[in-house]
Amino acid sequence: MSYARVLCAGLVGVTGHLVEVEADLSNGLPALVLTGLPDTALHEARDRVRAAVLNSGREWPNRRITVNLLPAGLPKHGSGFDLAIAAALLAGAGELPPARLAGVALLGELGLDGTVRPVRGVLPMVAAAARAGVTRVIVPLDNAHEASVVPGVTVRAVESLHRLVDFVQGNAPLLDPPPAQVKADVRQPDLAEVSGQLTARYALEIAAAGGHHLALIGPPGAGKTMLAERLPSILPELDDDAALEVTALQSIAGVLPPGSGLVRRPPFQAPHHSASMASLVGGGSGLIRPGAMSLAHRGVLFLDEVSEMPRHVLQALRQPLESGRVVLSRARGIVEYPARVQLVVAANPCPCASPAGDEHCQCPPPVRRRYQGKLSGPLMDRIDIRITMLPLRSVHLEAAHEPVESSAVVGSRVARARVAAVERWAPDGWRCNGEVPGAHLRRPPWRLPPPDTRILRRALDRGALSARGFDRVLRIAWTIADLDARDRPAESDVAEAYQMRMGEARKTEGRPPENGDHDDDEP
Ligand SMILES: [Zn+2]
Repeated sequence: MSYARVLCAGLVGVTGHLVEVEADLSNGLPALVLTGLPDTALHEARDRVRAAVLNSGREWPNRRITVNLLPAGLPKHGSGFDLAIAAALLAGAGELPPARLAGVALLGELGLDGTVRPVRGVLPMVAAAARAGVTRVIVPLDNAHEASVVPGVTVRAVESLHRLVDFVQGNAPLLDPPPAQVKADVRQPDLAEVSGQLTARYALEIAAAGGHHLALIGPPGAGKTMLAERLPSILPELDDDAALEVTALQSIAGVLPPGSGLVRRPPFQAPHHSASMASLVGGGSGLIRPGAMSLAHRGVLFLDEVSEMPRHVLQALRQPLESGRVVLSRARGIVEYPARVQLVVAANPCPCASPAGDEHCQCPPPVRRRYQGKLSGPLMDRIDIRITMLPLRSVHLEAAHEPVESSAVVGSRVARARVAAVERWAPDGWRCNGEVPGAHLRRPPWRLPPPDTRILRRALDRGALSARGFDRVLRIAWTIADLDARDRPAESDVAEAYQMRMGEARKTEGRPPENGDHDDDEP
């Protein structure tokens, strides 16, 4: 027997694909030739595999070895094919009985000493193998728990090529995946720790309930970051599909902690304002790493001090924000990662950033205007809710006589509102009000009676509101109604939504206001 075939898997973007590794040994000048669109890392595989085989006490077949990776048209990146290549060529050389590897997918990188090292993206690769009908996989020990998240697949692990060879020869068992690590109860940030800032808290609740983008404008120390960090704590847990996507992305990025199962909490990413483009949208050579935008998929992307971010970086975020995915062009083709994020941005109201707030601002008016200009623009136009936060001093005054709600209490209202929205939009496939196209809300049966939207049409005529802004206000109004358990927004909801959009929402009483609890906002 001088031919063998072993199953493996590769990744294109976030999608796994089954890969077949063929090895053929012929008489001729001893060499190892790899074919099937290998990238640089795959060429390095040649040296790793050879050293690992020799250091595992096996003989290197001194023949002409051709290893082919199929399908040929599929781009192949990374080092996860090593184990399958070693197994295929040892089986082809007659060192291993191929029957015990039939139908089993092998994943893992080899160290020169023959150890099997973990690889990125095991979860989506094992899921792809399972879709292709594979029921047994052998993975690196450190990836075993992650792999066992995929239903319908028996996962076994190896720590060395030596063990794999011993197993195939019937001399040693494979390893079981280690048990899930019981996480020490890491305390999540909770809204109960944020006192005061009632308007901002309510805005956070609306943003959570409707999946709206949010801007928090306020002086240093007002608690912008504290609030943003607590948005995931009031969002519902991820459903099965979303949890698989989020876990797969963390796996590909190599940030999934070993021993952790499916990620159920919406992720939170807070890249620094000086972060590189690659760290924001994704990049790197070989297996391209997802950036913060994709690691925040189905969760929250928080940009603190957004006014400090270079304009071209903000520009680059626009397209993913609209489409919900990041597209990266590379010489070897296009890689696409999901990036459906809820955006929260924070900024100081002016360059001097006086902690005491606007009344102590030292900035000359032109400087202030230029700065505020940076806070407008195309990206900011995509922000639904803009909230001006109070300086710290006022927060303390306000906090003195207000009970503070916990994330659990607020989160239960958010969950109820989300259920109402899902029931309404499920036939069209939208999960929250923030995803509904504006045109849909302007058509029957969802169109609001004209008197109820008069304030918006006047703002539109005055130029105070853009067409896009008009639609965004409608979406917020629906969320306010959902939070209040009413089946349609009233005129007062539209008015309140308009104020949220314009960044001048008035102080509410900490809870969503009841019907009729609004001032008359008509001009
Ligand atoms: Zn200032």
